[in-house]
Amino acid sequence: MLQFNNVFEVLTLLDKSNCRKCGEKTCMAFAASVFKGQKEINVCPLVSSEIASKYGGQKKKTDVYEDDLQNAISKMRADLKEVDFEAVAERIGALFDGEKLTLKIMGKDFSIDREGNVYTDIHVNSWILVSTFNYIFHCKGVPVQQCWVPFRELPSGRDGFPLFVRQCEDPLKRLADKYPDLLIDMVDLFSGGQVSDQYESDIAVILSPLPLVPMLICYWRADDGIPSSLNVFFDATAEHNISIEGLRLLGTGITQMFEKLALLHGVAGTHSA
Ligand code: SF4
Repeated sequence: MLQFNNVFEVLTLLDKSNCRKCGEKTCMAFAASVFKGQKEINVCPLVSSEIASKYGGQKKKTDVYEDDLQNAISKMRADLKEVDFEAVAERIGALFDGEKLTLKIMGKDFSIDREGNVYTDIHVNSWILVSTFNYIFHCKGVPVQQCWVPFRELPSGRDGFPLFVRQCEDPLKRLADKYPDLLIDMVDLFSGGQVSDQYESDIAVILSPLPLVPMLICYWRADDGIPSSLNVFFDATAEHNISIEGLRLLGTGITQMFEKLALLHGVAGTHSA
């Protein structure tokens, strides 16, 4: 497949009628989406089949990211063979039965064997799987202090904070805005706990994505012209038990899980899920 070198190369192949059938307001906006890998050129119905086959199938950026995650998972699965499960079990808050290591992810059993095969009823996406591997490799077993800090105030959190906001806090806030019962539903579903007196928030919940890596989510509803907001806090000890990258991926994975559940159940119905 031929690759585009700039947006204008895409634009020259389009009808330029700005008809909006592709879902974009202008052909230029569509061209930019194609160039960034967010859409394929054949989404425009006015592109000929010849051009579509010549330039189609350009890999989307999200797929590239998913490929990176899959590569990381493959490497971590190989590294797992070197881990002494018996020795790490107690340190990471897991049980070892001679074959599988079992720990709680969001309150549910998650087991893994030495080959990296996973046994669980919970839907574990690639982000959560990578961060769980990271936890198994990295965890020093430092007890939780119940001292909450935002991601950016963790020792190595400053650089990755904007990405954490984009991939975790912002989409979680949009979900909470759309589904007011979201956080309470997640507490019910994932054995979390609702807490009060947390930074004067309207809703505050504590979840346990990994045994020694709890997260506190605080949500402030829109009020009197002031927009809503949502912040995620981690225990001050978090980086002793998972790397900062693992923590960011964990936040992303939990957010993706919530988004999927919200789509599947409309969230309002998840009390009975
Ligand atoms: S459908 Fe094609 S021609 Fe119409 S606005 Fe989109 S890119 Fe332009």
